[in-house]
Amino acid sequence: MVREISAGGVVVQQKDGEWWVAAIEPAGDASSSPTSKKRQSGKKNKPVLCLPKGLVDPGEKALEAALREVREETGITASPVTKLADIKYMYVRTWGDGQRVFKIVSFYLLRYESGEIDHISEAMRVEVARAAWIRLQDAAKLLAYKGEKQMARQALEYVIAHTDF
Ligand code: ATP
Repeated sequence: MVREISAGGVVVQQKDGEWWVAAIEPAGDASSSPTSKKRQSGKKNKPVLCLPKGLVDPGEKALEAALREVREETGITASPVTKLADIKYMYVRTWGDGQRVFKIVSFYLLRYESGEIDHISEAMRVEVARAAWIRLQDAAKLLAYKGEKQMARQALEYVIAHTDF
C-alpha cells in the first residue's frame, strides 16, 4: 500500500475574549463548486471544513511543513507551541492508479503571528476555496473528519489548561 506523510497546523488566536482556529474549505469538494449540480439544485450543502495541512517535502521536517502549509493555504504566519498528535486514515485515490493510500498527518498546535486569513495566492485558490477563523469551541463539531475533530478538542484542552498561553 502507498504511504503518504503530511503535516498540519491547528492555528489558534484569542480575540474578543474567545479562542479562534484557522480552517479551510478545500476547493476540490464538488458540492462547493459554483457549477455543481447539487448547488444548482438549490440544496444547501454544509461546506467541508478542514485544518490546513499538506505533504512533507523531501528533506523538510514535519513542523516546517506544517508552518509552510499554514502560510500557503491560509495566508497567515504562525509559530510553534507544541506537537498535538499523529492522525492516521486510509483513502482510495480517485485519480491515476486508484491506489489505496495509508496516510499519517502530524498535527501541531500553532500560535497566530501575523497576516490576513484567506489572503492566498491565485495558484492556491485551485486547492482552497476559502480560509476562515472559526470558534475553537465549535471546531470539533464543524470540522469534517474524526481525526481533525480530535485535534480541535486537544487544542481547546491545551488553551484551557495553559491560562498564561
Ligand atoms: P495533503 O493535504 O496532505 O497534501 P491531499 O489533499 O492530496 O493531501 P487528503 O486531504 O488526505 O489529500 O485527501 C485525500 C482523501 O482523504 C479525500 O477523499 C479526503 O476527503 C480524505 N480525507 C482527508 N482528510 C481526512 C481525514 N482526516 N480523515 C479521513 N479522511 C480524510
